[in-house]
Amino acid sequence: MAELDSESQIDYTDSVIDDCIKCNKPLGDKDTYCDTCRIEMDYKTKNINIDDIFALPYSETKRMLINKHTKKIFERYCQLNDRQFVIVNKNKFQMLLNMCRNAERPIEISIILNTTFGVLCVIMAKHADLLLTEIVDSKPNDVKYKYIQAIGPHVLDVWNCTYNDSVFVCYFQRTGDLRICPLVVKNIYSCWNGQLGEIRLNDLKN
Ligand SMILES: [Zn+2]
Repeated sequence: MAELDSESQIDYTDSVIDDCIKCNKPLGDKDTYCDTCRIEMDYKTKNINIDDIFALPYSETKRMLINKHTKKIFERYCQLNDRQFVIVNKNKFQMLLNMCRNAERPIEISIILNTTFGVLCVIMAKHADLLLTEIVDSKPNDVKYKYIQAIGPHVLDVWNCTYNDSVFVCYFQRTGDLRICPLVVKNIYSCWNGQLGEIRLNDLKN
């Protein structure tokens, strides 16, 4: 199926069509399920090709699939940009959190997030929310933003963060535009370029 710019471009006027038996969208000539429904059914059992997900027309199912495969999409991004990151798992996160609790300045947080595992780390939103809440909220108001700026660039799926500080929303969720997972790969890459492009180990020497 060709990629569509929006759901409104689907042609419902064709009179000789069968419908997807799951969502009732018109299919054209073949198949029992539309591409979206087939991939939705397959995603738990099969090794899904992310290109197939990106080729789907816009839908909430597509958004769900992109969210489910964010790590895989990020691996592709890293290959394309020839950069290396570690995606922080539960155990690594606990370690980072303990270290960050003892940090007394924002630069220490940056150093922990950038050097602990040898390469820059990225943190999933569910962990980032905990880190932001615990570390930032305990600081005086006039320095909170510095801690947010140390942690924010490391959040991988920033659109899933529920941390509601206005500085975080403004800088990292682009004033709310990134409070929902983008449906276009270039917008996701652009989000990562904006965040991760700014992090360089050399900056930490200051
Ligand atoms: Zn369908």
